[in-house]
Amino acid sequence: MALSGLDVYKLLPKTNCKDCGFATCLAFAMALAQKKVSLDKCPHVTAEAKAALEGASQPPIKLVTIGTGDHEIEMGNETVMYRHEQKFYNPTGIGFLIEDTMDESEIDAALSKINELKFERVGQKISADLVCIKNSSKYKNKFANAVRKATVTTDLAIALSSSDAGSMSEAVRICIERRPLVICEDPAQIKVFAKIAKDNKLPLSIPCMDLDLAAQATELVKKEGVDEIVINLKAKSVAGRIQKSVFLRRAALKKNYRPLGYPILVFTEATDEAEELAEAVSYVAKYASLVIVKNYGRDFVLPLLVARQDIYQDPQKPVQVEPGIYEIGKVTAESPVLITTNFSITYFTVSGEVEASRVPSYILACDAEGMSVLTAWAAEKFTPETIFNTMKKFSLTDKVAHREITIPGYVAVLSGKLQEISGWKVNVGPREASGIPNYLRSLR
Ligand code: SF4
Repeated sequence: MALSGLDVYKLLPKTNCKDCGFATCLAFAMALAQKKVSLDKCPHVTAEAKAALEGASQPPIKLVTIGTGDHEIEMGNETVMYRHEQKFYNPTGIGFLIEDTMDESEIDAALSKINELKFERVGQKISADLVCIKNSSKYKNKFANAVRKATVTTDLAIALSSSDAGSMSEAVRICIERRPLVICEDPAQIKVFAKIAKDNKLPLSIPCMDLDLAAQATELVKKEGVDEIVINLKAKSVAGRIQKSVFLRRAALKKNYRPLGYPILVFTEATDEAEELAEAVSYVAKYASLVIVKNYGRDFVLPLLVARQDIYQDPQKPVQVEPGIYEIGKVTAESPVLITTNFSITYFTVSGEVEASRVPSYILACDAEGMSVLTAWAAEKFTPETIFNTMKKFSLTDKVAHREITIPGYVAVLSGKLQEISGWKVNVGPREASGIPNYLRSLR
């Protein structure tokens, strides 16, 4: 947990000498706690206090990076238990399990399907992140072949899972340029795997059945020279894994307990598709930084990625589209104009219904700071004045020959004033977007 200004103050010399540029040590402490200045501005801080303050300024959950370039995945660096307290920073990586017991054609087919897992939702691109090659066969050559296939067939990040150090060393050699995550599956081999990770400057995942043992293991791995650690949560049930995950996050954030302050990896266990989806989404919601799933069907992956997108959306910054005039279909100067806000979900719901209607139309998305229609109206961000200003700003008169617009049914109350100040005829559309196709057809 970050130190407060008073906590910082207690560690300062309290001489108010002003050498740091602040009038008092307390003022400096407050600025330091808010990360507005760096500690080195105070030349008089003792080595002991410096160590304490620098330690406290480290993120409570270590940042770990795997993959490279566009497929780099950052894990950790989280600072809150609940999204509404601030936001979650690094979206959970979603990985797909490839076992080296699969035959070559199966691996090829799986990898090419995984490569296709790309979607667009509310204007954002969402996609799969990683493939996890597991040495289920226990054979070094089979593992190496599967890893080789992955490096050739996909650009996604790679995780390597094995309990055999020899197999892992060979696999790492094959895909080292991808900066893979080394997953040690055997608690007895942690030290040997730590050497592999250290020699190759790679992050290491350690298995965790017991939290006390995990804390000891992370300390051991650190001593061996590996800083980037991922805790692979093991338990007999989904509930057990979630319980441990919550405990780890609380220990890291509330107690500042460094030995457990690392990102969490979880493998799903459920064999039924619906159960696996529910399991994976639960891990995304409850602090997993990386979830490895077995299913890679599009119907399975899309809801999982959507859940991640929603959970990791900054609650203070709704997903927005750029305010402006959008053309849906082959519009003409006679096409109808629908007015809405620039909240992405609202905009894309409206545009989806307009597309479904097959009536080419304009949508004027007003800047309502990303709020939905009713919220923006209640917050006075979606008013006759703001709508009219948006119409003028984007020169709606240049787009259409008529002088007629349609506002959402929920804000029918705006119609009179908007008509009065704009001089345009203001129609009141349906309350729900699902009514748009019939409404647009009725205007023909
Ligand atoms: Fe206090 Fe250090 Fe600033 Fe002097 S330089 S006022 S001791 S914080």
